[in-house]
Amino acid sequence: MVPFVKLKNFWYVLYPMENGNFIHLCQPDEGKSCGACCGLYNYAVSTRESLRERLRNRTELFRRTVCSMMDIQAFSEKIRQSENGARLYDVIYCCEYLGFLDVEEKRVGCLLHPLQNSGQDLRDVSFYGRELCEGHFCPSYHYISREEQQALLHILDDWYLYGLCVTDIDLVKEYFRLISEKVYEMPSPDSFRIPALKEASLRFFSFKISWPYRSEAANRFGKYYFDGSQYMIHHIDYEALNVEPSRFKKIFLSLSSDFKDAAQVREAETLIQNAIDEFVLHYNEIKDSR
Ligand code: SF4
Ligand code: SF4
Repeated sequence: MVPFVKLKNFWYVLYPMENGNFIHLCQPDEGKSCGACCGLYNYAVSTRESLRERLRNRTELFRRTVCSMMDIQAFSEKIRQSENGARLYDVIYCCEYLGFLDVEEKRVGCLLHPLQNSGQDLRDVSFYGRELCEGHFCPSYHYISREEQQALLHILDDWYLYGLCVTDIDLVKEYFRLISEKVYEMPSPDSFRIPALKEASLRFFSFKISWPYRSEAANRFGKYYFDGSQYMIHHIDYEALNVEPSRFKKIFLSLSSDFKDAAQVREAETLIQNAIDEFVLHYNEIKDSR
């Protein structure tokens, strides 16, 4: 018997954050959620403000005009006419049915889901179809360990940053590896509830938004770039920069780094190292005080 059935983006209603060994990364709690695989970050302009505005307008229109399957086409057409649909990658679909699930605008999710529509499942009209929308689990479910998932949920509290980080497996795994090596253990997930440790970790993951060496190239997204027909993994040419490949090279790729010279690589390494050291310092202080 299958131990769980995935209702994409809505599990939290039926289950608490964790169900046995399963953590629902799409909708982990009432304070955040992810909509990355619905194309959330694939708009040419994907700042927090622009996405919030986009989701807000959709949600308002949906609530006001959609009562049944009959109304959906008109909703879809209106969204396509009114929104700037320019995408980062044309081959990745941006679904117009992604909106906010709550009035506080803390959770992004599917407006077609039955729990948003008095039990009516409207997802048959979607680009991917109901079965795909229901059944998709991204690689983060498999590659980010349970402890890392739990820790991440304690660290991140907002939908925008959460969706960017939970889907960046390299960034997550590298961070927990680096701090674990320094403190000689994987800190327990609960330790990330402690304000000093949570804030230190949050400062690291916020680089996903604030990284000063982020490439301006429109076709870069994390470690990927798109050459017009397919995704490729970007490589930082350390030889051309006349430096050894950085010990933080995976993190640099996750942060879409583009370095002009060796000095920038060193500065970037210092930023990452400081973020790690800050966590380690607080962790050891707390440990010693117990
Ligand atoms: S990218 Fe992963 S965590 Fe995010 S909504 Fe899709 S399946 Fe869920
Ligand atoms: S219809 Fe599918 S792709 Fe669109 S928002 Fe809903 S779950 Fe995401």
